[in-house]
Amino acid sequence: MRAASASLRLMKIVRVQTSNGPRYARLGGSGQLELLSGAPWQGGSSTGETLSQGQLLAPVEPTKIVCVGRNYSAHARELGNQVPDEPLLFLKPPSALCGPEAIIELPPMSARVEHEAELGIVIGKPLKRATAAEVVGAIAGITCVNDVTARDIQRKDVQFTRAKSFDGFCPVGPLVETEFPDLTAISVSARVNGAARQEGNSKDMVFPVLELISFISQVMTLVPGDLISTGTPEGVGPLLSGDQVEIEIGGVGILRNYVR
Ligand code: ZN
Repeated sequence: MRAASASLRLMKIVRVQTSNGPRYARLGGSGQLELLSGAPWQGGSSTGETLSQGQLLAPVEPTKIVCVGRNYSAHARELGNQVPDEPLLFLKPPSALCGPEAIIELPPMSARVEHEAELGIVIGKPLKRATAAEVVGAIAGITCVNDVTARDIQRKDVQFTRAKSFDGFCPVGPLVETEFPDLTAISVSARVNGAARQEGNSKDMVFPVLELISFISQVMTLVPGDLISTGTPEGVGPLLSGDQVEIEIGGVGILRNYVR
């Protein structure tokens, strides 16, 4: 099935709510959803069924969400931090995931919740102690991530876990783009109520994507569907009840959520 595997390279992948539960789908050129038997990075293929519309969900079901702190030097400085000499890793739990248009609920524990626009990488093949060259062929696609953070709790706790892990603190989507451009030149931006907050580019990463994923794979085995969030550029700021927050990644699209 050489032709089928080739066509998998040219896909915008979404996950959609159907009457039979969540399904992966390919977004066709006309906006039609072509249902798949599973995520393409886990062997899913077209079933021949189509849908004209449906509520979009987070387009990934990762076993882990691996994030990196202070991966843009201007952002490290804006929070008063040094630029690290090796990647600073932390995890968000899959229970924090939510999809496009979902509501981000402000938790009572925090008085300062902030957006972080990030380029998300979806893993397509198992990676264990991989070289950067091996990572190249193991990326299934890219997506938009909002690494929502309770900044006051992050400053108070030594660990990042509580500040980064509230339910709904990991909006992802609206789709996974499997035909992505050069990973070292992708725009990463955030808008709140239409006003620009963050306007970065992956060219300014301290540790570029391939090197970063190689580093992570020295620590933990990455499996298809795992999500890497590659850090946020400068310009993070607060989210207030009633806000609309948009994360835009070049070549992917816009991830829009509402804050309450
Ligand atoms: Zn972040």
